[in-house]
Amino acid sequence: MRMKTLGKSGLKVSVVGLGCNNFGMKCDQTETDAVVGKALDLGITLFDTADMYGGQGGSETMLGKALGARRKDIVLATKFGLPMGPGGYMQGASRRYIMNAVEASLKRLGTDYIDLYQIHFPDAETPIEETLSALDDLVRAGKVRYVGSSNFTGWQLVEAWYIAEKKGYAKFISAQNHYNLLDRKIEADLVQAANAYGASVLPYFPLASGMLTGKYKRNAAGPNDSRLVMWGERAKSILTDANFDIVEKLEAFAAARGHTILDVAFGWLASQPHVGSVIAGATKPEQVELNVKAGEWEMSAEELAEVGKISFRF
Ligand code: NAP
Repeated sequence: MRMKTLGKSGLKVSVVGLGCNNFGMKCDQTETDAVVGKALDLGITLFDTADMYGGQGGSETMLGKALGARRKDIVLATKFGLPMGPGGYMQGASRRYIMNAVEASLKRLGTDYIDLYQIHFPDAETPIEETLSALDDLVRAGKVRYVGSSNFTGWQLVEAWYIAEKKGYAKFISAQNHYNLLDRKIEADLVQAANAYGASVLPYFPLASGMLTGKYKRNAAGPNDSRLVMWGERAKSILTDANFDIVEKLEAFAAARGHTILDVAFGWLASQPHVGSVIAGATKPEQVELNVKAGEWEMSAEELAEVGKISFRF
């Protein structure tokens, strides 16, 4: 497994990571154990979850159990900020909430430190200085090793960097944002800021929820147990003709080189210098196997340019 370093830090992560938002939702504990076990066996070291995944706590709890004693061998990433309860106090990025949220995550994960603690969404009601100060205290207390952002725009990342620099706080080493071959909007803004201010991009929805795996075909029913079929109406914004136009061209590009579209989706992201790790979710061990293999493709400059051209649309 190829490793990359996250941002301007010494933290090394596997170029293929595991997104854990299926745990406690689509996967029960037995299924979670199987997926996590396969990921560990194949050399995946970055596991990305969040406090609210799996019905507010289910993913962290199941992931902690599945990792067991092997927790020490991996980089455990989680997030805080989305609502964990009613009333307005169980969410956001205030010092008061962060100090509660981290203890709850540590307990559910069954660990005494988090490797990468990420703010899930910007909190417009809390000064970023307050958030950064609280996160810095967690780093100094040893409860958190590194901090990262998620769903920030370019200017928000730069603002956070500037305040952290001025105050001597821990800086964000990662920027987790929506990014895949069907949605490259962040290249116009966030990616530039991440490059300039020492953060690696962790692309979420790297497979466009499965659209980039080859299992959905235009005007045909997808597999019954797949996400985009189970989503029903909600999946219509992904299963569009415009997306199938790109998917079909990517499939032809892949086939001409003895690859699959899954290989292209992983290989293209993993070959970008600004991407730290491709944290695709998986519901079955077989998917993890295919995903790890797909991440092995180190694309040439020509291949990157060709895929870039096929997928360009902004
Ligand atoms: P994704 O990686 O684009 O899609 C994953 C889904 O595609 C799997 O759950 C599986 O669904 C299917 N799949 C995966 N590998 C496959 C394979 N080899 N063959 C066929 N199907 C395959 O989307 P995601 O898992 O939602 O996102 C990745 C991670 O990003 C999450 O787990 C989470 O950690 C993170 N995330 C973060 C945010 C944020 O706001 N920061 C938002 C969303 C996600 P089925 O088997 O059900 O079809």
